[in-house]
Parts: sequence; C-alpha cells; structure tokens
Amino acid sequence: MAQSFNLVTCGCGHSFGSSKSLNNYCTKCGSSSDIKKLELFEDAEKLSYAVSVANIPDEISDELISKIKKKDSKSKFKSMPNTQNKIQLMKLATDENGELTNASLDKILLDEGKLDLTSDHLIGQAEMQGLLFRVNEKTWNWLS
Ligand SMILES: [Zn+2]
Repeated sequence: MAQSFNLVTCGCGHSFGSSKSLNNYCTKCGSSSDIKKLELFEDAEKLSYAVSVANIPDEISDELISKIKKKDSKSKFKSMPNTQNKIQLMKLATDENGELTNASLDKILLDEGKLDLTSDHLIGQAEMQGLLFRVNEKTWNWLS
C-alpha cells in the first residue's frame, strides 16, 4: 500500500505533516477534534517543505515579513543579473564539501526572502545547464 503524505491543520492554527489518514492529533496543542486535511503530497520531502511554509503565516508572519523587507533592501544579491544571482544563492547553500541539498538551499532562499523561488526549480535549472550533477536523492555537486 502506498504511503500518503498529508498536510493537515489544527483549529489552533498549527499545521503539520501526517502520513496517516485517521487518528491525527495536533503536534502543538494535542487536540484531535479539529484536524483538517489540507493537501496530499507524493513524497515526504515535499510535505516537509509545505509544512514549514504553512506555519510561517500563523506564527511569525509579521516578524518574518519585516525581516524579509529589511534584508531585501540591503541584499547583496540585488544588483546582480538574475542568473548570476541564482547561482550565487546556490553557491551560498553549498557546504564545505561542495555538496548542495534541497534543505540547505531552501534555508538560504528563506533567509534571503526569495519566497518566489523553490530549491527544486533552481536545482533543476542548474542541472539542465550542466552546472550541477546529482549525487543522491537529495544532494548535488558542482561540475564547475
Ligand atoms: Zn492544535
């Protein structure tokens, strides 16, 4: 039987991931009476990203938005051409072993306020341009 990855939300405003279809309870307040299923994902990685995004507006939206605005105005990437900008972001997300992961890139994108970009999309583009090659399911290395 295929496992399902659900994004569910509680009446208290907390969203979380669940691989079960029944008997969910909130990981924050413990309630099981006000759980709603929002969306179904095909893998755990997409679900975990959706969960982190889903919890932003409810818990730290104002703080995060002002932080993003502040960061954006003095972003060192702003003056760079678009493609160069994206490559710089990916380089920034690369660790000391030269490895790039979805998780590290998602973090950089969030830090830089690039909420319109996704790691999947950027990595996919770079892979097509021959800049990156896949090492395993979640890790890429640079070719140049
Ligand atoms: Zn709750």
